Amino acid sequence: MVEAPCTVPRCGKNHHARGYCGNHHYSWLKYSDPLAVQHRMRGSVLQELEAAAPAESSDCIILAGYKTRPS
Ligand SMILES: [Zn+2]
Repeated sequence: MVEAPCTVPRCGKNHHARGYCGNHHYSWLKYSDPLAVQHRMRGSVLQELEAAAPAESSDCIILAGYKTRPS
């Protein structure tokens, strides 16, 4: 029997378990969603910006690890 590749569209990696490749199977086991890890990675920078910039503030955004010269 020839095994089909990963069932996630445009993945194309070798089948590992449950119809997924190694990466997607791990994500499915952990989050019940084979694409959960990729979604989280894309959202992280935006979440960091939103956390650093409260809506009621008009001050400049200061990200962790970044310093400006005193004026
Ligand atoms: Zn895959």
